[in-house]
Amino acid sequence: MLSLLLRKLKIGRLTEKVRNSHLSQGSSDLPASFRQSLHIRHLACGSCNACDWEMAALSNSLYDHQHFGIDFVASPRHADLLMCTGPGSTHLLKAASETYEALPNPKWVMAVGDCAIDGGVFKGAYACEEGISRILPVDYKVPGCPPTPDDLMKALLEMMGKEVS
Ligand code: SF4
Repeated sequence: MLSLLLRKLKIGRLTEKVRNSHLSQGSSDLPASFRQSLHIRHLACGSCNACDWEMAALSNSLYDHQHFGIDFVASPRHADLLMCTGPGSTHLLKAASETYEALPNPKWVMAVGDCAIDGGVFKGAYACEEGISRILPVDYKVPGCPPTPDDLMKALLEMMGKEVS
């Protein structure tokens, strides 16, 4: 706990002002029809909730995800992308698989945060996987503990093949 506190003090505030220096985007694997709008279902799978709060910050006036055609939906049946947080808690594995199956094709999975990528701080813990990729086919990874909203926004825009200045 002390080490986490010291790390937090060292890293400082994570919800920083958005920068006007987004990556110049490469080609996207998404079909062109997905480049104007993207519907996302958030799947929390045993996270500490910090990643989830950084995702929630995408809707504030700094990041304004809807301005870019990105929106979060309540049902996986309306989603193109599953944004997963957490290492994959054992008791949620069935729900995670069923949620993924409910997405219509084509569909993509994004692992948000170190936990979702490889277990992160929960690596080796009982009752969870070491990353969501043990359960679902992950297409995109956004590292960080947690990743900043800026990181998330860049990843989403990169995925959509959008260029942002
Ligand atoms: S990556 Fe870090 S912030 Fe995100 S759920 Fe795991 S412990 Fe929490």
